[in-house]
Amino acid sequence: MAGIYLHIPFCKRRCVYCDFYSTLSEARKDDYVSSLCRELVMRRDYLEKEPIYSIYFGGGTPSQLKESHFRSVFAAIADAYPSLHPHAEITLEANPDDLTPEYVAMLRRLPFNRISIGIQSFNDDMLRLLQRRHTARQAIEAVRRCQDAGFNNISIDLMYGLPHESPESWSADLEQAVALDVQHISAYHLIYEEGTALWNLRRQHVVEEADEEVSLKLFGMLIDKLQAAGFEHYEISNFARPGMYSRHNSAYWNGTKYLGCGAAAHSYNGVSRQWNVASLELYIQGINSGKLPCEVEPLDLSMRYNDRIITSLRTRQGLSLSTLQQEFGKELYDFCLHNARRHLARKTLAIDDNRLHLTRAGIFISDGIMSDLLRVDEQED
Ligand code: SF4
Repeated sequence: MAGIYLHIPFCKRRCVYCDFYSTLSEARKDDYVSSLCRELVMRRDYLEKEPIYSIYFGGGTPSQLKESHFRSVFAAIADAYPSLHPHAEITLEANPDDLTPEYVAMLRRLPFNRISIGIQSFNDDMLRLLQRRHTARQAIEAVRRCQDAGFNNISIDLMYGLPHESPESWSADLEQAVALDVQHISAYHLIYEEGTALWNLRRQHVVEEADEEVSLKLFGMLIDKLQAAGFEHYEISNFARPGMYSRHNSAYWNGTKYLGCGAAAHSYNGVSRQWNVASLELYIQGINSGKLPCEVEPLDLSMRYNDRIITSLRTRQGLSLSTLQQEFGKELYDFCLHNARRHLARKTLAIDDNRLHLTRAGIFISDGIMSDLLRVDEQED
């Protein structure tokens, strides 16, 4: 099982918190899409003909592409990847204000069967602060429009822990999200990434970071309200109606191989990970000269073990202990269980059906638990 990720690095405006690779220039959009198609063909053997169950257009803002761009990419995939499963999940990440009636009608003519809409908040003051392009009303209309057009697998992204966000305001956001009757909700705590405009605003004391107690309270509300509304909390930040887990997201957590094409895109094939150059110009130049502009990092046993801990413990099903022993050997299996003992005693970790997983209490301190289970090898001088 494998997946394809396509990075579309064009944005109309830069959101205040964002540190993803993207550009505000439209100048080389056509050239970029041609290079993306060329990369798909160049790297046709990367996934070793494994069946492809998901294709994900992420960004940046993929909804800044037009129909002819998408048609070129789908043609390249059809040509180079005969192992694409006929019922593959094919997702477009979209900004609400791009989802006009004409744009949604165009998406319906293409193979997309899932739309992931970056809403972040239903509070217009918060949206302005984050410098998002849309209003709450546009976000609600965008979801309704996709539903009316026949999309029945819609995900929305929300953010919490925003400056001055109160439990009441977050509660209203969650109620609005539930009322939209979507199949999937991802919700992330706002992060102050170094180098972003938001980082500078905090340094200048224009905004204040939410304190930890409030953040934990908002996270607890998120879990309680979405579970009460029938969503399954299947990964720390992800909630889905039964049977509607994101295959694309799940691939990362399950250690599935994925091919990432485009500037700054990451790929993983079980033995190494690699990432393309984070520059539109260098990416296009490299692809045009027939050489993939990327760096490759081979993964040794400890790195693969650490990856598995970090990804699988994020999920509701957790880490299969029998797979852990089979894939990583007795020493790492014993190491993991030895370091888990303290958390098992505190009931922040549990073992059920031979799977090690976070408990409800553990989810709130997941970073600390995971780091206790990681193997840090001695570095040679
Ligand atoms: S639209 Fe997405 S990728 Fe573009 S700046 Fe905003 S958060 Fe970043």
